[in-house]
Amino acid sequence: MAGEALGTADDQPAGHASTMPVHMADLGSDAFEQEFTLSLLASEEETLELVDRALARIREKTFGTCEECGGVIAKKRLEALPYASTCIRCAEQLERSSFRPRHPR
Ligand SMILES: [Zn+2]
Repeated sequence: MAGEALGTADDQPAGHASTMPVHMADLGSDAFEQEFTLSLLASEEETLELVDRALARIREKTFGTCEECGGVIAKKRLEALPYASTCIRCAEQLERSSFRPRHPR
């Protein structure tokens, strides 16, 4: 028997703090503001990752090439979203598929 079994990583992303026994009325707008800031940070982190990947593509000289179909990403799209990794068509397809359950059997 050669070959190693692939262990399944079970590290879970942080989150699910929705069961905290706190009275919202006591927290007032502070809690809302904090939550708002946290959600901003989350999307900022996502954006940073996309920017990071874009920089990597520049290094590999594949910037402006769609990661999905290998086609050219429209210049207009890159002007609006410099870190776009897919062309508009693939982006739309990915967006659509992410809203659906994956391959229900
Ligand atoms: Zn594409």
